[in-house]
Amino acid sequence: MLRYDRIMQLEFFGAAGEVTGSCHIVRTGGRQLLLDCGMVQGGADAPARNRRAFPFEPSAIDAVVLSHAHIDHCGRLPLLVSRGFRGPIYTNPACADLLPILLRDAANLALRDAERANRDLEARAERVTPLFDLEDVEAVVRQLRVVAYDTALELLPGITVRVREAGHILGSSSIEMWIQEPATRREQENSRKLVFSGDLGQYDTPILHDPFAFESAGLGLVESTYGDRRHRDRENTVRELGAILAQAARDGGNVIVPAFAIGRSQELLYLLAQHYGEWHLERWKIFLDSPMAIAASRVYWKHPERFDAEASRLRASFRGMPPLPNLVLSESPDDSRAINEIRAGAIIIAGSGMANGGRVLHHLKHNLERSECHVIIVGFQAPGTLGRQLVDRQPQVRIHGRQLRLAAQIHTLGGLSAHGDQEQLLRWYDNFKDRPPVYLVHGELPASEALAVKLRERGASATVARPGLQIDLSSLAVLARDSPTP
Ligand SMILES: [Zn+2]
Repeated sequence: MLRYDRIMQLEFFGAAGEVTGSCHIVRTGGRQLLLDCGMVQGGADAPARNRRAFPFEPSAIDAVVLSHAHIDHCGRLPLLVSRGFRGPIYTNPACADLLPILLRDAANLALRDAERANRDLEARAERVTPLFDLEDVEAVVRQLRVVAYDTALELLPGITVRVREAGHILGSSSIEMWIQEPATRREQENSRKLVFSGDLGQYDTPILHDPFAFESAGLGLVESTYGDRRHRDRENTVRELGAILAQAARDGGNVIVPAFAIGRSQELLYLLAQHYGEWHLERWKIFLDSPMAIAASRVYWKHPERFDAEASRLRASFRGMPPLPNLVLSESPDDSRAINEIRAGAIIIAGSGMANGGRVLHHLKHNLERSECHVIIVGFQAPGTLGRQLVDRQPQVRIHGRQLRLAAQIHTLGGLSAHGDQEQLLRWYDNFKDRPPVYLVHGELPASEALAVKLRERGASATVARPGLQIDLSSLAVLARDSPTP
């Protein structure tokens, strides 16, 4: 087995040169720690890539630190465990509550995918097994260890970690990590500090606090999903949402919102509650058609300690959910099917967020060919997903094997994205007083490269990460004044 006794190293594996599959490896003094262990999403080769062997021996990993519960950050954890990882998985309390909801859903999806593949390949001898199952997920849950926000903790000899708010979804975190040089372990002053942004939310996002402002680091690993884009500002976005709903009411159809169960769904409900009277929402029936989004909403309201001041004020009127009198929680498949009969007056929030599976496909199938209907896209759409085809307004799309002519009106509301745009990513970076060198991760190449250019204009060294790239951490500056003690 490979040992890493004398090296102090960071290696990129996933979400390097692309958005999904977040996974980075930190090695020091013979220990190996993973930052995230995410699934690749979108693209025809994603299922095959997710099945591939890890570029490390899972049983040789000592611990995982998980930034947040999105599947592209945590989705291969059950696979890691089933392939031999037995160590602790550290994450913050809210993420630990959300994680089982997401992973169980992913396990059910994996099971259905395998069943479908086996039906299609009936004649062939080779059976497809699910990528992982519910038992693997329960093993992940047993290996979870909760770490409080804002508290430094030595997770492994030579590796101390502190998680900070990332403002992206509930339980999202940026990770501050002090890594000690193997030869001088126990000497704090010889540690190198790495800050992994995780996924960064927008500033002034509903419900959550702004991303934490770091002042120093020896190296930054920074997401760049929207590194080449400017979002419309939030005020305009909210106004636009109101205008779309007004137009949709005049057109007399339905409104479909493919939304991520975690984050977007809760923010949308929050916005609808805030503008209930102003937008005359009493004329609509609002469906949250996703057992996962419903479960996630309950976790959201269980963690008011993560709310910003405005959400805390509004929470006074929350009773488990935002005060929408016409909100229907659609839990069972029958509840969901019943929505298909509705021709007008329904706002349907359903997953999946990129419309590459889930209940939203049925709603799109029933409404996409009707010009009086509206689809509102509120999050990032990976290449190869149906959501991306809608954003690109392809004249024909395929759902469940059926060709559909796109007639519904498609709206993209960038301002509701869970990710900061270029300006906000730079604002986050500008908090660092010592301008640390940066490796850009979690972005398609044009986005990462555009952000790199902007960072270099600020005098920072910025490199786009690629899989297999290894950084010798001992070459980084030692930060004399920085220590994990708050
Ligand atoms: Zn995320």
